[in-house]
Amino acid sequence: MAEEVVKNLEEGDVGKDIDTVGFLAYPVLQAADILIYKADTVPVGEDQLPHIELTREIARRFNTLYEPVFPEPQAMLTEEAKLPGIDGRKMSKSYNNAIYLSDDEETVNSKVLQMKTDPQRVRRTDPGNPDVCIVYDYHRIFTDKETQSQIDTQCRNAQIGCVECKKILAQNLNRFLSPVREKRREIEKDIKRYEKIFEEGTEKARAVASETMGEVRKAMKLWEF
Ligand code: SF4
Repeated sequence: MAEEVVKNLEEGDVGKDIDTVGFLAYPVLQAADILIYKADTVPVGEDQLPHIELTREIARRFNTLYEPVFPEPQAMLTEEAKLPGIDGRKMSKSYNNAIYLSDDEETVNSKVLQMKTDPQRVRRTDPGNPDVCIVYDYHRIFTDKETQSQIDTQCRNAQIGCVECKKILAQNLNRFLSPVREKRREIEKDIKRYEKIFEEGTEKARAVASETMGEVRKAMKLWEF
């Protein structure tokens, strides 16, 4: 697992304080967050698969050493399980390369225009390759199949410019985000109601966690101490 973590390190991690117990133990913390609620399915992106595998291993180890308390959770991936940040690296808040559900239309337009494209396509007249272009990765999710296929052909034949291609994407992303923004505005108007829902959810989760911890202590015979 440590090898997997090191393999997943990206350029942006260099120089960060990674030789700490906090960094090493973080996957265990994630595993605890899953196992304490006995989740059997976890919706994740492709980057998180090693964490789910480690979680399964921890569950197996505990169940074998003590008593079968934890289910072994399975990952739930969507059809497009990986979406890079606008600079091509892993999408991350710390890299400042993410598109947020809360971004307004102007911000989305500006972020899409900053996206890296096929590095081999230097001039508008150069044919491009959508297979190595981040913009196209997003088109795969946010653009209808027919337009996707048109862009693919036009890109390979230098019949479309990257700016035009990005404008189509920005439009589609904004169309996708529009109802999310609307819902967000509604929630903000009635924030007390949602705070109450969060509090009720926290109480429910706390009760489940407390029950699981009871089973864990019993299995480990920690009552005796
Ligand atoms: S035309 Fe679109 S898919 Fe092709 S390289 Fe430019 S941005 Fe990428």
